[in-house]
Amino acid sequence: MNISVERIKQSKISSVDFKNLGFGNYISDHMLVANYKNSQWQQPQITPFGEIPMTPAILSLHYGQSVFEGMKAFKNIKGEVSIFRPQRHHQRLLRSLERMCMPAISEALFIDSLCALIAADVSWIPDTEGSALYLRPVIFATESRLGVKISDEYKFVVLTSPVGPYFAKPVRVKVEEQYVRAAEGGTGFAKCAGNYGGAFYPAEQARQAGFDQVLWTDAKEHKYIDESGAMNVMFVFDGKLVTPQLSSSILDGVTRSSILTLAYDMGIPKEERKVSVAELKAGFENGKLTEAFGVGTAAVVSTIATINISGKDYSLPTDTNSSFQQRVKKKLNDIRMGNEPDIHNWNYNVPLQ
Ligand SMILES: *Cc1c(COP(=O)(O)O)cnc(C)c1O
Repeated sequence: MNISVERIKQSKISSVDFKNLGFGNYISDHMLVANYKNSQWQQPQITPFGEIPMTPAILSLHYGQSVFEGMKAFKNIKGEVSIFRPQRHHQRLLRSLERMCMPAISEALFIDSLCALIAADVSWIPDTEGSALYLRPVIFATESRLGVKISDEYKFVVLTSPVGPYFAKPVRVKVEEQYVRAAEGGTGFAKCAGNYGGAFYPAEQARQAGFDQVLWTDAKEHKYIDESGAMNVMFVFDGKLVTPQLSSSILDGVTRSSILTLAYDMGIPKEERKVSVAELKAGFENGKLTEAFGVGTAAVVSTIATINISGKDYSLPTDTNSSFQQRVKKKLNDIRMGNEPDIHNWNYNVPLQ
């Protein structure tokens, strides 16, 4: 694929505090844009990051056809650059696009675009342990008209951002018994923009009540756990790794899938099944629930310290280096950094010409 590159005149990299990156605070010098029109994707172009001319009538703004992905590229101990499991992210993107009546994008166009953009901004990839270049592909409807319809035109845009290690404090979460993120048959399994917009209000209410996040439950009965904020959620019960089974209201996280595979490699029994709120409560009471954590690309693992069930706080034992979540986080990091063999072929090598 021939991707043209118009380089920035003056790089912004000297304004980046690489010791203090945080998450998503900086956008790298270049972006990639490809247009979809006349029923096909056109050649992508890499240009300096900046504004894109669009009218306020583009259909994504009014009717929500917008889906995205979130991935990371790493520089390993040998200086090689790889993207973590881009094929699997691409497969999920296809499911999101289909659900939102948006055109598919080929794996070649997707991965070649990511690689070309990473190569253009290779100096932006942090190389300290736990840091990465976050990759944000987004596809949105750009046909300019007001009638309610499926758009005939789209843009595929990729942005990248150097991100630091996520030193997340253990969080306090609340089992959500009033609001709903996603219902069976809805769009919960798709990484679409609207799922986030709709979750802001309940998350903000929870924040004002002193919680960091909500633990979403099923839409019908509020009896079973779905996800934690915008992360999948996992528990350790009696030495077993337990996570809610996928459904149309749960996003199929790549981190979730990777951790389930590593649990098997580590000889930890795992169960993908419905997890009820009652079971969590019983697990706190009989001491069999020893860990709870969110999993996702951004933080990898986010320790849950407290779960509030129907107004009552239940606390987990303090997380230590020997916990499953810390061991699996280290293992994942070692695979990405090249400290451990990548037996599942998760690292996709980025050619840097
Ligand atoms: C992106 C996302 C996740 C995590 O998926 P990863 O592929 O592991 O990053 C989990 N839940 C929701 C709702 C998400 O949007």
